[in-house]
This record gives sequence, C-alpha cells and structure tokens, in this order.
Amino acid sequence: TKFEEGQVVRGVIGLDGGSTSSKAVLVDHETGDVLYKAYTLSKGNPIRDTKDILTEIKGYVESFGATLECTGFGATGYAANVLEESVKADVNIVETVAHMMSAVRYVPHADVVCDIGGQDIKVLFLAENKEGTRDVRDFRLSNQCSAGNGMLLQAMADQFGVHLHDYADTAFGADLSPKFSYGCAVFLDADRVNFQKEGFTAQEMLSGLAKVLPKNVWQYVVQVPRLAEFGRVFVLQGGTQRNLAAVKAQVDYIEERVPNAEVVVHPHTGEAGAIGAAMETRRVVRRKGSSTFIGLEQAINLGYTTRNDESTVCHFCPNECSRTFIDTKTPDGRTSRYISGFSCEKGTVESKDALKVLAKERNEIRRQYPNLVDEESRLAFKKFYEPVPLPKSGASKKDVRVRRKMFFRVARRMVNRGFTRSYADLSNIKIGMPRVMNLYSCAPFFRHYFDSVGLPKENLVWSPPTTEEMWVEGGRYGSIDPCYPSKVIQAHMHELLFHAHTDEKRKRGPLDYIYYPCITHIPSFLNNVMDTAACPIVAGSPLVTKASFTKEVNFFEREGIDYVDDAVSFTEPNLLKKRMFATWGARLGITEDESDWAVEQGFVALRRFDEIQEERGKAIIEQMEREDRVAILVIGRPYHNDPGLNHGIPDEFQVLGYPVLSIRSIPKDPVWLKRRMRGLADPLDLNDVWPENFSANSVQKVWAARFAAFHPNIAVLDLSSFKCGHDAPTYGLIDRIVKTAKAPYSALHDLDANKPGGSIQIRVKTYSYKLKMVEEQLKDESHLRTELARRVAEKRLELLRRMEHQSAQAMPAR
Ligand code: SF4
Ligand code: SF4
Repeated sequence: TKFEEGQVVRGVIGLDGGSTSSKAVLVDHETGDVLYKAYTLSKGNPIRDTKDILTEIKGYVESFGATLECTGFGATGYAANVLEESVKADVNIVETVAHMMSAVRYVPHADVVCDIGGQDIKVLFLAENKEGTRDVRDFRLSNQCSAGNGMLLQAMADQFGVHLHDYADTAFGADLSPKFSYGCAVFLDADRVNFQKEGFTAQEMLSGLAKVLPKNVWQYVVQVPRLAEFGRVFVLQGGTQRNLAAVKAQVDYIEERVPNAEVVVHPHTGEAGAIGAAMETRRVVRRKGSSTFIGLEQAINLGYTTRNDESTVCHFCPNECSRTFIDTKTPDGRTSRYISGFSCEKGTVESKDALKVLAKERNEIRRQYPNLVDEESRLAFKKFYEPVPLPKSGASKKDVRVRRKMFFRVARRMVNRGFTRSYADLSNIKIGMPRVMNLYSCAPFFRHYFDSVGLPKENLVWSPPTTEEMWVEGGRYGSIDPCYPSKVIQAHMHELLFHAHTDEKRKRGPLDYIYYPCITHIPSFLNNVMDTAACPIVAGSPLVTKASFTKEVNFFEREGIDYVDDAVSFTEPNLLKKRMFATWGARLGITEDESDWAVEQGFVALRRFDEIQEERGKAIIEQMEREDRVAILVIGRPYHNDPGLNHGIPDEFQVLGYPVLSIRSIPKDPVWLKRRMRGLADPLDLNDVWPENFSANSVQKVWAARFAAFHPNIAVLDLSSFKCGHDAPTYGLIDRIVKTAKAPYSALHDLDANKPGGSIQIRVKTYSYKLKMVEEQLKDESHLRTELARRVAEKRLELLRRMEHQSAQAMPAR
C-alpha cells in the first residue's frame, strides 16, 4: 500500500517469528487490510530479528512522509514467548490458531487449512462454533521430517541448478514424471539417485517431486483415508504454495478425492501466520480499547543481552538443563528477563526462594481450580469410609431358608438366626493389588471389603501410579496386548512382585497374595442399558498377566505368593457375595456372614465414592454457571485417571485456570440433571443416541459428551488410548453429539507409553484459546442479559410512574 505525505497510518503489527526466518505484516486498525509485508532471515536471536523487522516497517511508512501509529503488536511462532515478556506483546498466539485466523479472514467458510512451510506441515480441520465462525477442531503436524515440504523441494531444485522461481515452469514442461516414494526424505533421495540413473530429466524429476507433496501431506501426516469427511473447502497456505507446481499437485490430489472441492490459495501464502497474529491482536486491542505493547520506538531501541554459560545452567535437578537468559532494557529503563531452554517449570526461576514462591503459586492455583480427575485417582485407593463394624457372634441376622421340593420346586422362608463370627486375626496377612484398569473405579469396594473383615489398612498394598521408570523396568514381560493400559499392567505386577513384596524398609513385608480379580461387569449409573460389561481386554487381563509371569519361571510360586484372579461381577450383588466368600473365606479364615457383611460395606463405600465426587463436581459446575466460566470435563476410561496414562494433560489445563471434572463427578441426581438437560424424559437414559450400549465405560463416555453438549459451561477433553477397539465406535457418536451442539471439544485418541510433549503443548494452547473465546462469549451474553433485565426494570418503572400520574390526573378533585 502506498501512503500519502502527512498521513497518520493506524495499524497493528503481527509477527511470525520462526527459527529460520521472521515475517511481519502491518494491517489497518479499522479494516484489517494488509498494508505492508516484511521478511527477514533469522540472525539467531528473536529480539534482534524483531527489532530489524519493526525498523523496516516503520521505515517503509515513513518513506512516504507518513507517520506510523502502532495500535497493537502480537506474535506467533518460536519468538512469541520472549516477545510477550520483553515488548509486552498484546498477543502470544499458538501457530495453529494464527493460521486458522488468517485463513478464515479470506475464506470464512474454510473447512481445512493446509499450511506447508519450509520445515513443517500443518493441517487444520475447522468446524463452525456457536457464534457461527470457525474453530480449530483438530489438527495434524509434521515437523520431524522435511520430506516433500518446502526445504526439500528447494534443495532438489538447487541440485538440478533450477532457481526456485522457475520450479513450476520447469516441472510443467515435463511429459511424464517418475513416481517417488513418499514419507521419508531418505527414501526420496534414494529414488532420486535411481531415477537419475534411469535417465529421467531434471524437468521430469521436479514434476515427480511436486506430486509427492500431497501424498506426504494427506497420506503420511494426516493419515485419514477419506479426505471428503473433513469438508469441501480447502485453503492452501505457507511459503511452499508460491511454487505453482506444488499447488497444482495439491489441487489435483484434493479434487480427485473430494466431490465439489473448492481449493483456495491464500492471497498472502508466506505471511499467513503473521496475518493471523495481526488479526488476533486487532481483535484484542479493539475489545480492550488499549494495548500493552511498549510502543514502536521503545521496541526498536530495545537493548538486550543473551547469556548461555555455566551461570545459566539449572541446578534444581540432575538434568542440569542448559538455559539461555535474554535480558532486555527499554530506553525508558524498564527491564525484563526471559529464560529459555528449560525442560520443566522449575527452570523458569533462578533461586531456591523463587522456587518456593513458584510452588506456593502453583498450590494456590490447584486449590482455586480443582482437578477432580487427579483427586479421584487418589481417593479411589484410600480408606475414606468407616465401615459399620461386624455384628457380634450370635447377633440376630435375617436369612432366607431354601428348601427343595418335588418337581424341582423350591420353598423360601424368612428366618432369624445368629450371626457367625470367626474373629480371625488378619494382622499377619498381606495382600498386594495392582493399581490398574477398572480398579480405578472399583477399588473402593475391595479396599473397604478387606477393611470390614479386619485386614489392617496397611496390609492392603497397592502398586503406585504408573511412572515412566516403572514401565521401563517392569514392562518387559512380553504379553501381546493392544493398548498401553493393558501393557502397563505387567509393570504394576513387577512392582508388586519385586518391590512391594521385598520392601522391608517401608514395613510392608512379604506379600501373601496378589489379588487381581477378573472384573467382568462394573457398576453403571445409566438406566436401561443392554449390559454393563467391561472391555474383554480389561476383564481378561488378570489371566494374561498371570501367563506373562508364569510362562518361563513361575514368579508367584518362586516368591511364595498366591496369585488370585477369580472373576467377579458388580451387576449381581448376591453372586458377588458368593464369589468373594469362595475366594477369601478359606484364605482369610472368615465366615460367610463376615464376607457378606463386608461385601455390603464395599457397596456402601462405592456409593460414598460417587457421592464425594458428585458433591465436588456439583459445586464446581454451579460456580462456573454463576461466574460465566468454563470447566474441562475429561471423558476417558476410569484408568485414564492414572497420571502415567493421561500424561498429566488434565493438569496442563488446571494450571491454565480451568477446573477439571471427571465423569464420576457430574451429579446424577435426575432433578438436577433435568434442569440442565432440558427436554429429556430421563437424562440417564441413552437409548435414543446409542441403543447398543452394553460396554459400561464406553456408554458412560458417550453420556458425558451428551451432558457437555447441553451445558454451555462445560468443554470436553476426550482421552483414548492408541489402538483402543472399544473406544473406536464412540468416536463418530461423540463427534456428532458435540458437532450438533457446537460444544467446545478436543480429543487425544492416541495416548501411548510416550508423552508427545510438544504436540500436547500445542494442543493445549490451541484448545485453551478456544476456551478463552467461549468464556468471553459467556460473559458477553451474561452482560447482555443483565443489561436487558435492567432496561426492562427501568421501562416497567417508567410505565408504573406514568400510570400513577395518569390515574392521579383522572381522580376528581375533592
Ligand atoms: S529445568 Fe527442570 S529438568 Fe531441567 S534441570 Fe531444571 S529442574 Fe531439572
Ligand atoms: S477399553 Fe480400550 S484402552 Fe481399555 S483395555 Fe480395552 S482396548 Fe484397551
């Protein structure tokens, strides 16, 4: 854009600070139009790059004799964190959201955004939200391998002596193209050598390479067979789209697979991220009416030093992370320090005192924003209920006497008889149980069963929550299991056998039993379900685990431990009594009356477990309703409460200021639910949505998604384990439920042993941006409601006064 002499240009600046280059745009404060684009190759320091690029923008505007009034500044990319601190950027926005905002600025109805930069590929799937605009619903990233993206195309063009600008013309001149393998740069290079040997020309090779790009994007990075299921409007952006051969290959690929596809190339392909940062900055400063940015002059003249030496190493743990300190000073004397290179939160501070303050702050956040997933994971294994003591021997007990009659008939008669007691001393018996699978929901039953028959509390030993170390040490006993929750059981069994059993220090002493019951059916709060079955992998896991530890050496026998894996079902309380007595009667030397009594106490404990969590959940949900805030509802299987399985993802939301709810913590009181799930005759019946509801944990997940769909203050975080066959049928259902309600939703369907730290961070930041928008919307709606109520009250008062006035005038004078 050209400016006029004397013109005051009011605009916001958005910057996309990458590790190899930085791009920035100046956009009009009023219209959002792009006024100027700037680009600089990275000089290795984000502050220096930013100063240079801001100088360029200012210089451009001033070259016309105009003045630049920078109304706001926002950043995305690798430089965003340091700029937030040093120049008080208005916005520090994650790349996914920046690219989405940029795409919808030009293509408001975009369904898919494909951004291919020099080093990475981002594919964003968008969905309409309640406000009628678009949100990032899901995304795929590839930044580990450069195969087929911009850098590789450039490298290949360089090898053939073709300038990148001439890439497309060269490739379009080819009559045929060799078929390169996709997915890995190493394979591509091997192909290149072979094809060159076979005599393919440079034109043909470049044409073939461009055609690999869409395969890398859609088959290697996205890995979804039916592209059309994401929609029909595709936006192509990122620097690589300047190469028309790459664009043509993408368009051909998409059009072949998506009926009526509309493929749009972003008008500013290379600056899409910077434009997104600018759009968000413009939105934020217009909403707030002010900017936090220190100002163009101060930013351009920012002094800085960078230090990375022994003095900056973090010594809070043996990792000794090598950190970088970036100190900045504005011309008017304000200083700030930004630390990078740490691996955990502790590395963000410099002294033990600061660490204490940090810990205090964290605890305060945890107190203010409870994480019920974490609380539930601990409560399940604790003693939280004092069982009613066993009756004395001979105390009156009601019973049913059954007598067989002729022709297979039976006669039942209520009788009173004396309670039988064993008074068994169980102080020398120790039982180990693994903290795995559905014990995350049923453990209170077992904990209080044993407590009720007189087993000392400390004699029931649970393996600890899953940790990486545990998995590395104990996860090698080789059974073939499909998902991480089932594989990790071996590590827990190893922990019981080789640590809990032998750990004299903690006075646990040797174990007499390891008890891992085959739980075939679990308790369910839903009405009219077909069944309450556990996943067969879960139910069968005690037998699989036993096989793992007995196949070559019978470790249980060797250690003198009795491995107990008898089946139990929670849907048949009488059968459960029989089973528990059959399993533990002789082993503990207790009577059937004692065992039955303990089963009843176990059920009371299970109900109490639900009540405690529901009370906590109710308080949080009602607080969110009052304060127009949002809570995260984690929908997973009970064992996803294990911090080693959920990789601490719920905690990441907690520290951002969102309370975290579990499925159990949603109140199940029908009256309370009916007020929130309006229009449903029975809010605990899911047959209209999913009649094939025999799998208890699956159906509870779907129900929780439906609850969230009805509730404006609840956002869903759906956790599933990689290769979970039982969750697979719920994906489509849950997707439809939340899509129809346009409810905030994010999913991680591939949890496994490794914590994908980087991608989790990006996902958390992407989702928390969405949640921030939801909270803003809730507050705006609440403000409108209050304003409307105020105006109605005013109007009513005015009418009343008018009526009083009129009636006073109509009264005959005395
Ligand atoms: S940053 Fe964290 S992991 Fe790294 S040394 Fe410090 S405490 Fe250890
Ligand atoms: S429900 Fe899924 S995650 Fe759980 S044990 Fe079965 S297959 Fe594994």
